[in-house]
Amino acid sequence: MQRITILGATGSIGASTLDVLARHPQQYSVYALTAHGRVEELADACRRFRPARAVVGSADAAARLAQLLAADGLPTQVEHGEQALCDVASSREVDTVMAAIVGAAGLAPTLAAARAGKKVLLANKEALVMSGQLFMDAVREHKATLLPIDSEHNAIFQSLPQHYARDPQAAGVAKILLTASGGPFLNRAVETLGAVTPEEACKHPNWVMGRKISVDSATMMNKGLEVIEAHWLFGAPADRIEVVIHPQSVIHSMVSYVDGSVLAQLGNPDMRTPIAHALAFPERIDSGVPQLDLTDMAALQFYKPDFARFPCLALAFDALRAGGTAPALLNAANEVAVQSFLDREIGFRDIDRVIAGALDAVPHGPAPSIEAVLEQDARAREAARAQVSTLRG
Ligand code: NAD
Ligand code: MG
Repeated sequence: MQRITILGATGSIGASTLDVLARHPQQYSVYALTAHGRVEELADACRRFRPARAVVGSADAAARLAQLLAADGLPTQVEHGEQALCDVASSREVDTVMAAIVGAAGLAPTLAAARAGKKVLLANKEALVMSGQLFMDAVREHKATLLPIDSEHNAIFQSLPQHYARDPQAAGVAKILLTASGGPFLNRAVETLGAVTPEEACKHPNWVMGRKISVDSATMMNKGLEVIEAHWLFGAPADRIEVVIHPQSVIHSMVSYVDGSVLAQLGNPDMRTPIAHALAFPERIDSGVPQLDLTDMAALQFYKPDFARFPCLALAFDALRAGGTAPALLNAANEVAVQSFLDREIGFRDIDRVIAGALDAVPHGPAPSIEAVLEQDARAREAARAQVSTLRG
C-alpha cells in the first residue's frame, strides 16, 4: 500500500490524481489532502477518500471544514497554514507526495517532501523553476525520488534510458524536443492579441487546466517555465532544449539521439496518463484514459515557435541562460502579471511588458539559499506590481 499526500487536491491535477487513485483502492491510500480555499470540494474529497489529515489556507476555512467533516462523523484532523502543509508532505506516515499546488506557494511543502526523502510527483513546476539547483541538491542529498508529472517532462523521462544520470552527453542525447500546443492564440492575428479576454485565454484547445497555467499556455510562458524545468530535471543546457510547436498535443515530447534516433511518448492529452505512470513507476496501471487511435487522427503538424508572437518564451530562455535567481525573478513577475491580467487590470500584451520591466528593475544574483530566493521573489513581485500600476496609470 502506497500512502499519499496530495498538495492541491482541489485543483485540476488534484482531481485527476484522485480519479486515478479511486481506480486502485488496493494499491493506494490517501494520508492527507490539502486545498487553499475550496472547503466544500475538499470536504467532498475527504468523504470519498477518508484521509487522516486535511490542510487548508486559513483558520476560518479550517473551522468550516472541521464542522462539515464532524457532521459526517469523519475522523480527519483539520489543520491550516504553511507549516501544516510541510508537515503532511514530510510525515513518516507518507510514501508519496503529489506536488500540485500552483505557483510559488508550493515551494516550501514540495521542498519539505524532498528533504524528507519522499517519492515526489512534481506538477508544481514553479517550485523547481524558482529553486532549481537547491531543489535538485535536496533530492540527491536526502535520496528522494523525483518523477515528473508535467506531460512533456513525463514523456521525456519515458524516452530517456532507464538509468539516465542527468548527463545528456554521456547518454548520447543530442537534443530534448519539448512540444508545445501553441495555446489558443497560435493563429490569431498578432495585432488583436491586446484585446483578448481572460475567458479567451483560459480556453485551451487541448487541455482543461487551472487558470494560471492556462494563461501561461496562451503566452507560452508555460513552455518557457518548462524549458527551465527540463534543464533541472534532465541536466540539459539551454542549447540542447528545443521547443517544437505541435498543435495536436498527441506527441508529448521527444528525445533526439546522436545516432539519429528520435524517441517519443504519445497519448491522448489527458493528465491521468503521466499521473498513473508516476504513481506506479516502474510498473504500469490503468489510468482511465482511452487508448490512442492513430487511424482516427488527422495529420500531425510541427512548427518552429515565433518568438515575436510569444516574447515570454524568449524571456524564459534568457533567464535560464542568466542563471542564479533570474528564473525565480521571472516566475515571480509572471505570477503577478498573470493575476493582474485575470483581474482585468492589464491587457494580455502587457503580461510580457510587466515581466520584462520587473526583470530590468531587479538585478539577478546568485541563489545560495532558499531564503535568498524568497527575498528576490518578493522584490520581483513588488517591481511587477509597480509596473502594473504604471500601465494602469
Ligand atoms: P489549479 O488552479 O486547478 O489548482 C491549484 C491547487 O493549488 C488547488 O488545489 C488550490 O487550492 C491550491 N492552492 C492555490 N493557491 C494556494 C496557496 N497559496 N497555498 C496552498 N494551496 C494553494 O491548478 P492546476 O492546473 O491543477 O495546476 C497545479 C500545478 O500543476 C501548477 O504548478 C501547474 O503548472 C502544474 N501543471 C498542471 C497541468 C494541468 O493540466 N492542469 C499540467 C502540467 C502541470
Ligand atoms: Mg506541460
